[in-house]
Amino acid sequence: MRYDRAFVGGEWVQIDGETMDLVDPATEDVFATLHLAGAPMAEAAIEAARAAFDGWSGTGTAGRAAILRRVRAAVADRADEFAAHITRDMGCPPKIAAAVQVGTPLAVLDGYLSTAAEVAEQVGNSLVVREPVGVVAAITPWNYPLHQVVAKVMPALLAGCTVVLKPSETAPSAAILLTEILAAEGVPAGVFNLVVGTGPVVGATLSAHPGVDMVSFTGSTATGRQIARSAADTVKRVALELGGKSASVLLPDADLAKAVKATVANAFLNSGQTCTAWTRLLVHRDQHDEVAALAGEFAEAMSGRLGPLASRAQWERVQGYLEQADATAITGGPGRLAGRDRGYFCRPTVYAGVRPDARIAQEEIFGPVLSVLPYADEPDALAIANGTPYGLAGGVWSADRDRALAFARRMRTGQVDVNGARFNPLAPFGGYGQSGNGRELGRHGLDEFTELKAIQLD
Ligand code: NAD
Repeated sequence: MRYDRAFVGGEWVQIDGETMDLVDPATEDVFATLHLAGAPMAEAAIEAARAAFDGWSGTGTAGRAAILRRVRAAVADRADEFAAHITRDMGCPPKIAAAVQVGTPLAVLDGYLSTAAEVAEQVGNSLVVREPVGVVAAITPWNYPLHQVVAKVMPALLAGCTVVLKPSETAPSAAILLTEILAAEGVPAGVFNLVVGTGPVVGATLSAHPGVDMVSFTGSTATGRQIARSAADTVKRVALELGGKSASVLLPDADLAKAVKATVANAFLNSGQTCTAWTRLLVHRDQHDEVAALAGEFAEAMSGRLGPLASRAQWERVQGYLEQADATAITGGPGRLAGRDRGYFCRPTVYAGVRPDARIAQEEIFGPVLSVLPYADEPDALAIANGTPYGLAGGVWSADRDRALAFARRMRTGQVDVNGARFNPLAPFGGYGQSGNGRELGRHGLDEFTELKAIQLD
């Protein structure tokens, strides 16, 4: 793997200038030196993407889908390589890296490919058509480094857009490998460009540039705000997939053991570095102590299976929350996981009796930290569930499916699972409130990369 090049206009181009170390978070060893692109490289990539737009958008959905099917097959063939890179870049344990970090994007790409079709609708005397939005800048984080790239780049390409990708500089390997595959499988020069660099340099250049028609961003809410601001002058389209503080709500008639086990597993997936993580467990106050104890047991049972946090910065951030937490820890707390003297391994932590307005119940921690919050009755549960600035995901548990569904309908959040339902790569994914705007995945995700045109016929 080479970490010293950008991919611009169909060529690998040497990056000179600043560098940074890539660190394996499980060992804290430096394994490579990453060269960071500057603003001129980002500008060259935008120019290449503009130049390629007419040709690619004119290729037609079927032609573009045929190329992306080959890309899909090549990613599947090299799944082990992707998983190993992701493990080294950001610490995800190998099994989860294979199943989730690589398995999910393959399912997501299948979802996009299955829904891709030319759409034209007759509305009165108008023909309403969808056309590609233009040049798309995709800016992605480190926690699911292949999935987040696939969730943006593939629908953009399928829709006929051309793309400049700026992946997270902390975990760039999956994006570099994917770029090799896109080039090898016949994506024409300039249609896809990769520029690895920092957010304030490359990310900011892409979001402000008049040659970019849309910026699609996944990352923290704070960065999302900055991107929206710098995109405002050129009125480009902005899609934001941001943070979350999602609630798993146990209605009193739920199967408590099943619900608590699933909630803990969800909260601690990827060591809690998941935007949709159910980090708040809401339980009727009469069942609070039983549920908190169960959550503590499940958390302890998971501790040997958790990977490290992705970086020293992330470790310090999470420790800060643990040191200042104003609640009773049932298990865990600040400090290193027992038996680990290297690596950013954090103790899985469950807090009980957490007040809805506590900092740990309001802010995204992005570590293996679960807060158990008691509620008085169903309206109180709903008020607590909806009582953060976020609204990305959530769960509801009840023996009565209709009751759970009625509760789910009233949650101000983009996704809700009833009784632990499965992930659906065709369902729209995105946030209410400060979890962002726009949707990814499936038909709705594909439509985000299109403009609607109405042609009135005589
Ligand atoms: P981050 O916001 O720090 O960085 C994300 C990306 O933005 C990186 O590529 C970074 O280099 C870039 N960036 C940073 N500053 C920038 C700027 N000024 N202009 C343009 N780009 C800039 O987030 P992170 O720490 O990499 O990821 C963790 C966050 O991502 C969490 O808050 C998490 O909730 C969120 N996230 C959201 C989703 C979702 O789909 N809603 C999915 C995964 C992660």
